[in-house]
Amino acid sequence: MQDFQSILDNIHKAARKQTAKGKVADYIPELSAVDPDKFGMTVLDSTKNVHSTGDAKENFSIQSISKVLALSMAMSHVGEKLWERVGVEPSGDPFNHLSLLEMENGIPRNPLINAGAIIVCDILVSRLENPTSAFLEYIRDIAGDSTIVYDEKVAKSEKRTGFRNYAAANLIKSFGNLENDVETVLDFYFHSCSLSMSCEQLVKVFYIFMNRGKCLRNNAHLTLSQVKRINAIMLTCGFYDEAGEFAFEVGLPGKSGVGGGIVALLPNKFCVATWAPGLNEKGNSKLGMWALEKLTTETGLSIF
Ligand code: GLU
Repeated sequence: MQDFQSILDNIHKAARKQTAKGKVADYIPELSAVDPDKFGMTVLDSTKNVHSTGDAKENFSIQSISKVLALSMAMSHVGEKLWERVGVEPSGDPFNHLSLLEMENGIPRNPLINAGAIIVCDILVSRLENPTSAFLEYIRDIAGDSTIVYDEKVAKSEKRTGFRNYAAANLIKSFGNLENDVETVLDFYFHSCSLSMSCEQLVKVFYIFMNRGKCLRNNAHLTLSQVKRINAIMLTCGFYDEAGEFAFEVGLPGKSGVGGGIVALLPNKFCVATWAPGLNEKGNSKLGMWALEKLTTETGLSIF
């Protein structure tokens, strides 16, 4: 077994010396106010041991990382039918791109771009009485952690500034690929982006993707085939237009968010989360990517 704790402590020490930290997202005040010097990292290994360093217990806005969790919940409701409404090809576009050209006949390229995630939210809105609270319960149940919450201020700000998401949802609606009204679907979508979690909470949720669909308490949430599909999509579509670079440098399926979080995993071995709010020009956490590259290089553990 790797000595994850000392590897993480060394990465943290080296991270403190890094001067190029990237730029904190500034499209809403709640994100721009975050301290750019924060750095947290947690590894949850296959024996269920947690190894943490830095600000790993501190909550941050998980933003687009939530798209994987909405996808997972939607797949467990509708299975393979989901792929009739959204594709599985990488988009190669930045995080705030309006996906007008990423849609063929109203079918977004994948479920991890905003347009695709809006469809995933629509699927859940159609099937759940109260999607916002059911989604939160789903995540709390997987993590075995009832303290996970939405940040209502972030949800409100997302809504106030979400013009491109309104445009995307309206476009999808015009193609007949949105079952519910735009406002209801986006209200749920904005809430999902506002989930507030720490690195230690994120690895507990994403454990199901490294552990063949089963959570820490051994309850099955996804089939093996569903886990394969979700991990494949994270690998090819999880990092905006930098999925190739992430696979090249880090070599793990994962997902980033503009709150500076990244979560990644090696099936059957470990799940890792990082948080460093400064983003590179592609919208991915600069120090987070750097730290994950160090982790897979020093442990010699990646999917390749
Ligand atoms: N909340 C953002 C939006 O919908 C997504 C941010 C992200 O990609 O992490 O525009």
